[in-house]
Order: sequence, then structure tokens, then C-alpha cells
Amino acid sequence: MEDAVLIHESYDVDRLREDFPVLEQTVYGKYPLVYLDNGASSQKPKQVVETMEKYYYHHHANIHRGVHYLSQEATTQYEVARDKARDFMNAPHSREVLFTKGTTDGINLVAYSYGRKYLQEGDVVLVSTMEHHSNIVPWQIVCEEIGAKVVPIPINEAGEIDQEAYASMLGPKVRMVAVNHVSNTLGTINPVKDMIALAHQHGIPVLVDGAQSAPHLTIDVQDLDCDFYAISGHKMYGPTGTGILYGKEKWLDAIPPYQGGGEMIQTVTFEKTTYNELPHKFEAGTPNIAGGIALGAAIDYLNSIGLDRIAAHENDLLEYTTKALLEVEGMRIIGTAANKASVISFLIGDIHPYDAGTILDKMGIAVRTGHHCTEPLMNRFEIPGTVRASFGLYNTRAEADRLLEGVHKVVQLFG
Ligand code: PMP
Repeated sequence: MEDAVLIHESYDVDRLREDFPVLEQTVYGKYPLVYLDNGASSQKPKQVVETMEKYYYHHHANIHRGVHYLSQEATTQYEVARDKARDFMNAPHSREVLFTKGTTDGINLVAYSYGRKYLQEGDVVLVSTMEHHSNIVPWQIVCEEIGAKVVPIPINEAGEIDQEAYASMLGPKVRMVAVNHVSNTLGTINPVKDMIALAHQHGIPVLVDGAQSAPHLTIDVQDLDCDFYAISGHKMYGPTGTGILYGKEKWLDAIPPYQGGGEMIQTVTFEKTTYNELPHKFEAGTPNIAGGIALGAAIDYLNSIGLDRIAAHENDLLEYTTKALLEVEGMRIIGTAANKASVISFLIGDIHPYDAGTILDKMGIAVRTGHHCTEPLMNRFEIPGTVRASFGLYNTRAEADRLLEGVHKVVQLFG
């Protein structure tokens, strides 16, 4: 506890905010921006933007293929970024760390490559009821082709996966478990380590959707023992169109390439093509070189602050805001798990989330409204959507107060 206080006291949020020029603006000409849509995408620090700029101004060339100086330099920078991502996730080898366009891209890669090789008619892919569409639809597409099916694991009223139900659903027909580490809508931190251990007792691999965990939690793929782990650069203060897929070498060796093209081949003839070694087998075509390198800068940035300290700061905001919101009449928080990250989804009485979001926006407060790409979850709670405030490393208690002020205004106008 003492440590937590120390961590919090030494956290200089005002200083960190100076790294994010976008936060300095006013919206609609008068309200200082309060950015609480970090779950959708976080803002970028100067360190990340400047890395990209420097790369394009001074270092750009295509990678892996050139003998010339610039190409080798760009290749080295890109591979250094891969090593940073390996360390960030504590992956054993860089060859198990694939650059992707983001979490969606990573999950599609696994769904297609693993699915086409290992799924058969009648098989089952287990996902939780709280999954993002990105961890449902790719599985549905491949299952439909094969005659397999996607089956949801139920959740309780608090928004936690029903672990008893999960245990009872594991069986010989299940070929994959795909769950998120942190729910983008509820904030629930799922006990993925235990879930993975249980799946492995049945010989079933597990993919973890880490889109929402990467900016908040320390990821250790070896400790989790997951088979695949997908993250997005843009949610962790890095560039859009970047991401990482970790995959255990045994799986990446076993499954076919996702896309064909340059870079992923060893030799090509019209009779037969052989594939490149890992990780290049899964990286067809010229990648987002600048983005990958800048993702490395985002990882450096997070490490320079410390994910533990970021989590302590965000937890403070979560507790402070939750407590205050619950004092508002008619307030209903969707997602009350015991273990939560800094996401608060709520509804106020019968007020439509869109109306609430619009008023908040007019006051300069950026929140998200709607189903948050989790329609099955909305159906589970029988609601049309929620208002979602999601905090990042640069948010403050003063901003939480602005949100509360906005909520009171909403109640006054619509309540
Ligand atoms: N999974 C979760 C839990 C998410 O929150 C998101 C983004 N909202 C995604 C997957 C998809 O990530 P991306 O759009 O970066 O591919």
C-alpha cells in the first residue's frame, strides 16, 4: 500500500502531458479538450512522432533486401524495434514476434492460418461473450467455410467470464480458445493465465486479444504460456496501422503463411515455392517500416515511465471517477468486475448514450458512445450501448471532475 502511494506521488502527470501537444487544444473554440477515448485510440507523444519524422527525413529505404547503406540502416532500426517488442511481451525469441497492422490483423492471421489447417467440420472455437468483433468475426468467417462453429462462454452480471461454465465447455471438439485480456467495454481484466492452463490440460491452444492490456498491464507471454497474443500499436501511444502478434514457434512453424508475396518466400518456381524462415514467413510485402520503428519508440516511452506506475495512476482515476459517478441518480455502471482496468461504461436512467455523448462533446469531453464493437455483449445486458470513458497515462483528476460536471449537465437536460 505504501508503495502504491509512493508510486502515485512521484507520478508527474503535468510533465507527461507536455509530451502530448494534442492535449493543449480547446474544442469548439472554448473548452480545453478532455480526452477520455483512449480505449479507441490513445494520443501520441512527441517522442513517437519525432521518431517517425526522423526516419522519413533521414533513414528511409526498403528493408531486408538491399545491400546498400540506407537499406541496412533501416533494416537494423526495424529489427531493433522487433527486439523491443519481444522484450515488452517477454517473448523468448524475436522470430516469434510478428509485425502486423494491429490486433485485428493479428487475429485474422491466426484464424485463417491456424483455422484452415486445424479446424474441421463440427469443431468449436470458444470465445467469451465480451469479445470485440475482431475476435469473433474472423473466427466466424473461417468456421463457416469449414462447417465449424464459434461458441460464446457466458459471463456474469458483473461482466466476468463464468469460469465454471468455461471449464465445462472445454472438450475434444474445441480447437481454439480466443479471449481478451482486458475488455474494451467493461474494463474487466480476465484471468487468462488460469484459463490458458485449463485449456492446455485439454491440449487446446489459446489466443489472447491484448489490444486493451498492452497500454495498462505488463505482458509476459512466457508466464501466461499463451499460444498467440495480439496487440495494437495505436492503443499504446504508438502509430496507427502497427501491431504485434506473438506466436509460439511450434505453431508458427506448423501453420501455413497468411499472405503470399515478396519477403515471405525462400525460393519461387512455377512448380513449387518454399517459405522464408520466421518471422518473415508471415510478413509478406513491404511493411509499415516507419510505423514499426515508431512503435519501438512508444515501447521505450512506456518503459521510461513504467507500466506499474501508469497502472497505479490509472487505477486512482478509475476509483475516484467510479465513486463520484455512482452518486449520480440513475447511474448504472456496466462492468463491475473485481479486477478492472481504467474503463468505465455507464448509462444514466433512460438517457440514450448518444444524447449523453453529444452533450459531453459539446463541453469538450471526448468519450465514446455505442456498442464499442461488442454487440453480443450489449445483447447480453439488453442495452443499446453505453457511454464509455477510458483513461490513459496523461489523464488527471481535474479531467475526471470535468466529466462529472458534464454528466450532471446531461442529467439536468435529459433526466
Ligand atoms: N480487441 C479489442 C479488445 C479492442 O478494444 C480492439 C480495438 N477497439 C480491437 C480488438 C481491435 O483493434 P484494432 O482496431 O487496433 O485492430
